[in-house]
Amino acid sequence: MKALVLEQQDKATLAEVKEIALPDMAAGDVRVDISWSGLNYKDALAITGKGKIIRQFPMVPGIDFAGHVSRSNDPRFSVGQSVILTGWGVGETHWGGLAEQACVKGDWLVALPEGLAARNAMIIGTAGFTAMLCVMALEEAGVTPESGTVVVTGASGGVGSTAVALLHTLGYTVAAVTGRGSTHDYLRKLGAGEILSRDDFAETRPLEKQLWAGAVDTVGDKVLAKLLAQTNYGGCVAACGLAGGFNLPTTVMPFILRNVRLQGVDSVSVPAERRAAVWERLLNTLPDDFYQQAATEITLEQAPAVAADFLNNKIQGRTLVKIG
Ligand code: NDP
Repeated sequence: MKALVLEQQDKATLAEVKEIALPDMAAGDVRVDISWSGLNYKDALAITGKGKIIRQFPMVPGIDFAGHVSRSNDPRFSVGQSVILTGWGVGETHWGGLAEQACVKGDWLVALPEGLAARNAMIIGTAGFTAMLCVMALEEAGVTPESGTVVVTGASGGVGSTAVALLHTLGYTVAAVTGRGSTHDYLRKLGAGEILSRDDFAETRPLEKQLWAGAVDTVGDKVLAKLLAQTNYGGCVAACGLAGGFNLPTTVMPFILRNVRLQGVDSVSVPAERRAAVWERLLNTLPDDFYQQAATEITLEQAPAVAADFLNNKIQGRTLVKIG
């Protein structure tokens, strides 16, 4: 099969499209012929070697994919069935989705929901799946459209774009934080009512004027600290990312004086039942025009160059990789 293969030479990561053989299938494994994959921030860190994502080489990156089953050792999955995969360390510790085929544990697969095209599933991808988890975290914390404005950081990226579109469709007033002037029109089309500059989030005090009922943060560091200081009494911040850094220079003040909740969001190890529910909600919530607005299609061969663009903040929305 053709795959993007990562190897390490003199501590540098080399990425090249090659023909390689898939490992033999074990009990419980399912082989998937992949039609679409995606590029996520984590893939960009892995492919460029800028983040310590991969510890065993050679590795096929790609933390998500959609395709159909071509062989199955798991009675829950039959040949021809359409499936999606996000997370579980695939593309990190286990050969991933930037390839014509993958061999994965049946436990890691989700049946493609009826009515969702495989291409659209990968426009959503890990990023969109995570955005929905963040929205559900806010709902579970009692944040409703009537509570006030919800702010999304890193808004032009994959998670951010999908979060803006989801929140807007669900009736929330959305503020978008971005470091780029070039994406303002895009963010307004997705449903952002207000756009703020990332520069305004450079400095913070322990408590500031209360502005947000909730927040979806993909950035971390000072941006997350400022969101916490500006969150309304009883509000919630769903934190899923570190595009700006993994530090959190905050104080306990928002938590002990304003009852603010900081809810962590992980997409990798979400239990199967919740995964299916998240995909159903994505299918039922995202409007048709989201799929046109938020996706750029590339080939497997283009993936290394586009991965570098990710880390230079040049990517807007979701990047879809056409495989099959
Ligand atoms: P993208 O690269 O598509 O989006 C990240 C966005 O963050 C950029 O578009 C940009 O938005 C903003 N940004 C980039 N660099 C900086 C910087 N130096 N300082 C502040 N903001 C910056 O990535 P994804 O949407 O795929 O992922 C976003 C984050 O979420 C990543 O950190 C990723 O690792 C994390 N993530 C976590 C998951 C989990 O399970 N917890 C799952 C998926 C993603 P703009 O230009 O608008 O400012």
